[in-house]
Amino acid sequence: MKKVVITGAAGFLGSHLAKEVVKQGHQVIGLDNFSTGKAENIRELSDSGFFTCIACDVAEEDVRFMPALSGIDEIYHMASPASPKFYQADPFATIRVNTIGTANMLELARRNNAKLVFTSTSEAYGDPEVHPQPEEYRGNVNTWGPRACYDEAKRLGEVFCYEYAHRYGSRVKVARIFNTYSAGLRNDDGRVISNFVTQALNGHDITIYGDGTQTRSFCYVDDTVRGLLLMMERDEANGQLINLGNPVEISVMEVAHLVKSLAQSSSKLTYNPLPQDDPKVRRPVIDKAKALLGWEPFIDLREGLRLTIEAYQAQRP
Ligand code: NAD
Ligand code: UDP
Repeated sequence: MKKVVITGAAGFLGSHLAKEVVKQGHQVIGLDNFSTGKAENIRELSDSGFFTCIACDVAEEDVRFMPALSGIDEIYHMASPASPKFYQADPFATIRVNTIGTANMLELARRNNAKLVFTSTSEAYGDPEVHPQPEEYRGNVNTWGPRACYDEAKRLGEVFCYEYAHRYGSRVKVARIFNTYSAGLRNDDGRVISNFVTQALNGHDITIYGDGTQTRSFCYVDDTVRGLLLMMERDEANGQLINLGNPVEISVMEVAHLVKSLAQSSSKLTYNPLPQDDPKVRRPVIDKAKALLGWEPFIDLREGLRLTIEAYQAQRP
């Protein structure tokens, strides 16, 4: 049995990953300040006897010397708001958790000779001028705008990872995750799939930002979680930065129509202003993930949305 730390375990991705790690028979210690995470995401896990969650801010508390964390084998450092709505609400917290928080977790990994996966983001490519995006593309991030607190903090987090891998030989891996979805996102999360599904099911207007021609590539959570587990497991991923995402690209407008039709909704589409610096296109090149991890996504958007809508429907009072 391995002792695995997951920061951000009460969040969307962290809680899905924690369930999988516990299912594989390991002990999980979550670290979460519940800023965007929900206690209900981990309620079932907490009853399993193999999961505990320590309430703390990984950027503020000196987690390196926490007695509960001695002898750990693996760390997934996932703590950080991910929805633009939340990461922009407290930009300084966003910057701290992805920089100081990452440095703290890397040091904890080094002291324990533990492996570490850092969840970076496709936002590291900014509003890309190279399309689709391979890992070698250096990105087009505006440092002087509302998304910079997230994009640049993740990029600096990656730099910390690079230095620990190259100076200390730490077994560190960086996952650049592209838009991941499923049920389990907060209804007020603000990201496009949770907004559209919630709006469609409640008969509210579906809010398209801009003209809806901007694109994203959506990956179902089970595929992303499988990719993260493989990154941790495979030595080939040590010291590597790897895209994890579904390479099938779709416009926001098409997503709105698909959700509306799958939810059999009579909602109208409405148009709101496009947020500043909203990337126009986004699609991962996943050759590296295929080669190093043997990973590619299996669940297509129609099937993933069907599962998501079904789960949201089941949760409704
Ligand atoms: P989320 O907001 O649902 O979860 C983040 C979790 O981190 C929450 O439980 C929150 O309370 C916790 N947290 C935030 N700051 C913290 C701090 N200082 N100390 C301790 N805990 C803290 O977001 P998510 O979608 O689950 O994303 C998880 C990770 O994956 C993030 O690092 C995010 O940047 C990355 N990511 C996610 C996506 C995606 O599409 N979901 C895409 C790219 C990258
Ligand atoms: N978006 C939208 N309506 C919404 C929420 C988001 O049109 O209610 C758009 C947003 O402007 C962006 C895309 O959907 O172009 C994905 O947004 P999200 O916040 O999910 O993630 P991002 O990829 O921008 O970080």
